[in-house]
Amino acid sequence: MKMDSKGPGSSAAGGIVDQAARDRRDRETSYRGMAMKLFPPICARCAREFEGKRLRELTVHHKDHNHDNNSPDGSNWELLCLYCHDNEHQREVEHARMERALGADHVDTRPVDTTPPLRHNPFANLATLIAQKKK
Ligand SMILES: [Zn+2]
Ligand SMILES: [Zn+2]
Repeated sequence: MKMDSKGPGSSAAGGIVDQAARDRRDRETSYRGMAMKLFPPICARCAREFEGKRLRELTVHHKDHNHDNNSPDGSNWELLCLYCHDNEHQREVEHARMERALGADHVDTRPVDTTPPLRHNPFANLATLIAQKKK
């Protein structure tokens, strides 16, 4: 068996991966370019200004965290420097971790575990107890 990188099968698969990566890169650079034209080169968090080579440190953040939501009016974009962008996503991670730690019940408006105690009504029992005491 030959695992030759020049074989027709592997080169085709490699081509697909390359193409996907290139597409993604193109998309990323294009929305970045659009955002750069829309917004001044200033970080939306720390208000640092970027120019020249340092413009690379300014990145496009998606407010709803959906990288496919690239509204041409820039409503889903925010220019953040690498540090603030990192921070922004760290907060999201912490938030998600906290939600998970609190459990699904917390997210539900009506916790599921209130139903079982209601099935055998404690007050019905109390009424019986009172009734028994009166006798
Ligand atoms: Zn910043
Ligand atoms: Zn982001």
